[in-house]
Amino acid sequence: MQHKQVIIALDLGTTSNRAIAFNSDGAIVCHAHRELTQYYPQPGWVEHDPVELYRTALEVLREAVDKTGAESVAAIGITNQRETSIVWDRFTGEPLYRAIVWQDRRTADRCEEIGPAAKEIKNKTGLMVDPYFSATKIAWILDRADPSRVRAGRGELLFGTPETWVLWNLTKKTVHATEPSNASRTMLYNIRTLTWDGELLNLFGIPAPMLPQVHNSDALFGATERSLFGRPIPVTGIAGDQQASLFGQRGFDGSTVKVTYGTGIFMMVNTADTPLYSDRLVTTVAWKRGGCTSYALEGSIFMGGASIQWLRDNLGIITTAAQSGSDVIASTGNEGVYLVPAFQGLGAPYWNSDARGLLIGLSRKTNAATIIRAAVESMAYQVRDVLEEFISASKAVPSFPPSFRLIHADGGATENRILMQFQADLLGIPVIRSRNTEITSFGVAAIAAIACGFWDEKQFLSIVSDAETFTPNPSRDCALHERYYQGWLRAVKRSLDWET
Ligand code: ADP
Repeated sequence: MQHKQVIIALDLGTTSNRAIAFNSDGAIVCHAHRELTQYYPQPGWVEHDPVELYRTALEVLREAVDKTGAESVAAIGITNQRETSIVWDRFTGEPLYRAIVWQDRRTADRCEEIGPAAKEIKNKTGLMVDPYFSATKIAWILDRADPSRVRAGRGELLFGTPETWVLWNLTKKTVHATEPSNASRTMLYNIRTLTWDGELLNLFGIPAPMLPQVHNSDALFGATERSLFGRPIPVTGIAGDQQASLFGQRGFDGSTVKVTYGTGIFMMVNTADTPLYSDRLVTTVAWKRGGCTSYALEGSIFMGGASIQWLRDNLGIITTAAQSGSDVIASTGNEGVYLVPAFQGLGAPYWNSDARGLLIGLSRKTNAATIIRAAVESMAYQVRDVLEEFISASKAVPSFPPSFRLIHADGGATENRILMQFQADLLGIPVIRSRNTEITSFGVAAIAAIACGFWDEKQFLSIVSDAETFTPNPSRDCALHERYYQGWLRAVKRSLDWET
């Protein structure tokens, strides 16, 4: 039998599905990719077609398996857009409705109604009541398709986020499962007891028989049906996208914070076996491996690199995102100008959906470069906002490190050297920029690879991906950076509750 040479990560993303094969050195040997159609049937609604989602997942897997040879694939790991909700018929396999995507806001009114239970929900699930999470999305689909809940109660309907849906199809409708990093985003899963919560299921009107089994993140979930790839390939790792990238960044303890600077900015810190709570952050399961549960604190910032896209597409003051990192911008000072990119309200740590975007501190000297600089700096300030919240949440637990020593950065906007250096100067800690653009896939590949023995922990840790460190400039003026930050806080204050 041929020696197993690759591990395949299946990345079920929001805009595309990808399959990436890693060899034993952690190098990418194959990369297959398919875009996913986005449906916006009404303002605030975002949907995917579950049939297309599975079809494209299978296509990219086929492409990767064909290139590497089915016999050489040790296992598959799956990572996915979280919270996106699919309900389907157990017997026919037909979805009852399109997948309601995490960004979708249609259940905002329902979330308002649930307000009084918010404290209890936060306690159990670590989440604030928000349409972002799955519970109200599932209920919305059931209200249309099974208002009396008779079919769901009999187990004829199944719920899953994308990894569950794809796994169920890959295993010929035999495995209906997920793991805690995904379950903890549904608002139905008790992150202390690690079980589906009966009271929450009642509150949201969701019958228990439709929920997937929750295995460990590094479980043997099942194997792909033989006819798909000529032989069954085991699935030995699953994790939500942000958790997978935390694993890929080796965020194994509280000393390092992972920051993904993409369209939005996603920050996470591993709090080991202790869930830390904050009203302004999400507490989530990072993963459960080898029977041990790791928790994480998470801060989601809506506008990161998207502010740069706005400068390009709406203001037209740059033609490429890269221009926001040019020498002209580098030589432009702060000049007291701030852009608060609250275009869709503000996410962590403010959670103010009535905030609106604001550009303040303008003078006759202000020009396009000042505004571009302010947009770049807005990413760094928002990261500091969340980091401050991480620090105050961690103070509640004496065993937790009181300070964070490093930032591990990834994502498209890390291309911007001004941002990286300003971030290090503003925080006074080094920012390590990963050059691995597939850190999420790498993370879940590692979970699956360690689970099936393709790598041991040591081998995984020895895989060094290219990185560059930005250290705080020793001659930086700390007091000045503090004043910049105080200016930002004043600007944010003025943007809050603008929409009445
Ligand atoms: P996502 O995974 O969310 O699609 P990416 O990690 O691909 O995001 O990053 C894309 C984002 O990074 C875009 O919003 C873009 O504006 C921003 N970006 C790309 N290059 C730069 C740059 N040099 N400076 C600042 N922002 C950038």
